[in-house]
Amino acid sequence: MDIAGMDKSAGEILSSLEGKSLSVKDRMAIERQEMPSQDPNERIRNMNEVALGYTENMARAEALRCLDCKNKPCVEGCPVSIDIPSFIREVAKGDYKKAYDVISASSILPAICGRVCPQEVQCQKYCTVGKALKNVDKAVSIGRLERFVADRNTDAPIPEVAPETGRKVAIVGSGPASISAAADIRRNGHSVVMFEALHKTGGVLSYGIPEFRLPKKLVEKELDKLGKMGVEIRKNTLVGRTRTVHELLGEDGFDAVFIGSGAGLPKFMGIPGENLVGVMSANEYLTRSNLMKAYDSKKSHTPEYRAKRIAVFGGGNVAMDAARTALRLGAEQVDIIYRRTQEEMPARKEEVEHAVEEGCNILMLTQPVEILSDENGKVRAVKVRKCVLGEVGKDGRRKPVEVEGSDYEIPYDAVIVAIGNASNPLIKLTTDEIEVNQRGNFIVDENGKTSMDKVWAGGDIVLGAATVILAMGEGRRAAKGINEYLASLK
Ligand code: FAD
Ligand code: SF4
Repeated sequence: MDIAGMDKSAGEILSSLEGKSLSVKDRMAIERQEMPSQDPNERIRNMNEVALGYTENMARAEALRCLDCKNKPCVEGCPVSIDIPSFIREVAKGDYKKAYDVISASSILPAICGRVCPQEVQCQKYCTVGKALKNVDKAVSIGRLERFVADRNTDAPIPEVAPETGRKVAIVGSGPASISAAADIRRNGHSVVMFEALHKTGGVLSYGIPEFRLPKKLVEKELDKLGKMGVEIRKNTLVGRTRTVHELLGEDGFDAVFIGSGAGLPKFMGIPGENLVGVMSANEYLTRSNLMKAYDSKKSHTPEYRAKRIAVFGGGNVAMDAARTALRLGAEQVDIIYRRTQEEMPARKEEVEHAVEEGCNILMLTQPVEILSDENGKVRAVKVRKCVLGEVGKDGRRKPVEVEGSDYEIPYDAVIVAIGNASNPLIKLTTDEIEVNQRGNFIVDENGKTSMDKVWAGGDIVLGAATVILAMGEGRRAAKGINEYLASLK
């Protein structure tokens, strides 16, 4: 059904319920409002957002499904504890401004989180409606409602800033952890300078997640807001090289430093052939496309490696983003090679479904064992091995077991490796005092404080590759610690 049809049927639901006092049974009987989206055949020819967002009728009809549970199980599943039933109540009433105020008391990036948060394993997983209907896909669509509310309030006022305190805080990185930390510290009247290694701010929100899932104008808007609050942003500044953490705290006169440098170091498989021409990390591939606009082949100075048959290794969101980008850049065949089954894939279910709808193939229970070369050192094929599922591992997923003697070759002319990211070691290498764990992630206490005096950290650099909402939560926790520390100074 197209968006007009979906809106009409939601309008009919609303008219049929008008003036009625709704019982739990009535609410449970309302059909879940699906998200309108671009037609798969159309969308693989453009970079525009796939999900189109609810209309007002759809949002209000969906909001009426909420039971306003007294024990609020959905809130327990939200990493930043948004008062979900309260904001949904306001949507049902049509007071979107009030709904926005409720959300923004806990989250500063609702338009972004409403789009990219894995709600099905967070708030929606605990929703009473989904539980009663024995299907998480039938839970109240909290994320879609959050997005609706955020999109209706794009002109929300800039947060107030307390009078200047004369204290200075350096923020390293400009991803969601750093954005949240910068906003909360600046609100308290401290001067904030954000240092970003790249020529664009936003971290993974800008260089990783593609435009068709998260329009960049939304990210720019959030960063503009920081600028309007008085946060100074210095791009092209690599902390650890351009300035060290010691220099920031010493001659540069900062009173505290927050490090939100993320997990941007791509992992590789360690199989033969990974150094061939045509093998890329998903980070490189997505950065070229998102940040350097490689999809605009007529204007881009850094075009993508052209390929018709592309193999993507991995089963997470990053693999789905790379595969779907490859289709949009003109690949004729995109195979996502994953050693378990679709059920164990860490990617969001919706992203996997979108990838399949668009024409990506998923080769399950398949493990790449070698990338094969042509006579010019370019990718010619991938040798893969069949797997079966074995015992359940520590993470609750069944482990893949390789089947000896089952190897075969599949022809490809490029490979994108999307099997995960680790933290970049640069800051640690130039700052001995910061303790890290075996994976290179910074170790912090319950306030986000590192082992180094005056230095806090949060986001993927602490958690390892995680999620936007968790990074935001980490940024806020560290900001609280920094604000308390600065308040304690004479
Ligand atoms: P980042 O967003 O990584 O930002 C770190 C910033 O620090 C970067 O801009 C980097 O350039 C900068 N930096 C690094 N080192 C230095 C230095 N030495 N000096 C100065 N600057 C530095 N999460 C979800 O919730 N939903 C999704 O759908 C989702 N999809 C994803 C898709 C992709 C392709 C990727 C890669 C990740 C995805 N994630 C998703 C994960 C999520 O984006 C991250 O968990 C989140 O962005 C981490 O935030 P952060 O602020 O810690 O770091
Ligand atoms: Fe509404 Fe579901 Fe939360 Fe209950 S658990 S308040 S039904 S969103």
